[in-house]
Amino acid sequence: MVIILKPDANDIQIKIISNMIKDFGLDVHIIKGETCIIIGIIGDTTKIDEGAIELLDGVDRIIHIQEPFKKVNRKFHPNNSIIKVSNKEIGSNKIALIAGPCSVENEDQILEIAKRVKESGAHFLRGGAFKPRTSPYAFQGMGIEGLKLLNIAKEETGLPIVSEIMSTEYLDFFIENVDIIQVGARNMQNFDLLKALGKTNKPILLKRGLCSTIEELLMSAEYILSSGNDNVILCERGIRTFENYTRNTLDISAIPVIKKLSHLPVIVDPSHASGMWWMVEPLSKAAIAAGADGLIIEVHNDPIHALCDGQQSITPDRFSQLVNKLKLIANIENREI
Ligand code: PEP
Ligand code: MN
Repeated sequence: MVIILKPDANDIQIKIISNMIKDFGLDVHIIKGETCIIIGIIGDTTKIDEGAIELLDGVDRIIHIQEPFKKVNRKFHPNNSIIKVSNKEIGSNKIALIAGPCSVENEDQILEIAKRVKESGAHFLRGGAFKPRTSPYAFQGMGIEGLKLLNIAKEETGLPIVSEIMSTEYLDFFIENVDIIQVGARNMQNFDLLKALGKTNKPILLKRGLCSTIEELLMSAEYILSSGNDNVILCERGIRTFENYTRNTLDISAIPVIKKLSHLPVIVDPSHASGMWWMVEPLSKAAIAAGADGLIIEVHNDPIHALCDGQQSITPDRFSQLVNKLKLIANIENREI
């Protein structure tokens, strides 16, 4: 981090600024050019209150040289992180496929979908039990009962379970009964939830917020890692843009950007990104071609009657066809599914 001073900054102001940096426990390196003065800060700049420095007389602006995220930063962890879940991995050469309904609705529904996606090659079963719905009158999920049904499906198929947590209220139940705890887009910046999840050792699937930058997503992941849990998988699920044909806009560029900046695995959710079942195939192909470590796809055996997100859910048959096509793309990249 460097502080650019105003051209007319005087020695007393430079001293006051330098002393404040030193009070934060850091050192300074002052460079006096002909037209401008720069103060370089040496040490861990996370300790600094930038707002306070900006208020000091003589300061023009602060420029960041390094990223504000440390533990998720690839610079300090050059190798890809591979997250272990049961006997499976996310982030390795093998592409992870998570499939299942938006919401668990009843035992027959979740069992049938689980069996069908397993046959087609899915590695994990998704299913919402606590649903973050825009309308309070919409189906809110089956709650704990839904998590129990997911476990019945897990016993039948062996597929580890991915399900969304909305608050810390049922955290113990999630720790016991869910293999990957999903933090949804709307809770990406629920910092108390992130800190609580950081104190567990469960794999966390952290989805990008609707209007969040990549840096904000990485800072949210930083909350979990800095609280002690390194098992984080990031998810690009589309962001809000001015385009309103699709539900969201899938930010394909987030995949290579996140891969460059961070060692954490990144998967893509083409279902929420598009909001339309017929776009799931092209977006899934694009995500794998762009280097995603996996996909989370909504699959429903009866999309027309789905209680949530039927319009963006593909049928088990279509999922099966999609997996076969994705295998070809993975092959080109010397990867497998
Ligand atoms: C979901 O996965 O069911 C979900 C609600 O996703 P998002 O948080 O990305 O909207
Ligand atoms: Mn959904």
